Amino acid sequence: MSAAGPVRLVVAGAIIDLENRSLLLARRRYPAEVAGLWELPGGKVEVGETPERALRRELAEELGIDVEVGGRIGPEVALRADLVLIALTARVVSGTATPTEHSAVRWVDGAGLSAMASEGELVPADAVWVSDLIEELARR
Ligand code: C5P
Repeated sequence: MSAAGPVRLVVAGAIIDLENRSLLLARRRYPAEVAGLWELPGGKVEVGETPERALRRELAEELGIDVEVGGRIGPEVALRADLVLIALTARVVSGTATPTEHSAVRWVDGAGLSAMASEGELVPADAVWVSDLIEELARR
């Protein structure tokens, strides 16, 4: 696809548990470059769909949770010329995160997130958001 072609959006959820000041991470199974690394779960926004709606759909499909979506967090990240990644905050309204596509999920606090970033355990695109996420976890 040329740089002039349509740009698709990928939306990731910064799912925060207010009581425990923790963030939900999911471990990718594929592709090989990022298999075993942890990400903010989400997926591609379909044509005609809002990012908020896409995030709720993806998290229901991938983790069996219903979320309430909040605002943007962190900068957008260019994954490719035709693919841009954004993060939206969210909180679980119902369900317990149970991975269907990921190999595992875990909740981490700010210190845990920082340690994982230092160890290179996050997918590269999401590592850009670490300082914003830590600030958000501390602010609440
Ligand atoms: O999850 P899915 O395969 O639909 O993601 C589409 C693209 O967005 C992939 O290249 C994936 O690596 C990337 N992605 C990311 N960080 C996320 C979610 C997706 O880099 N939190």
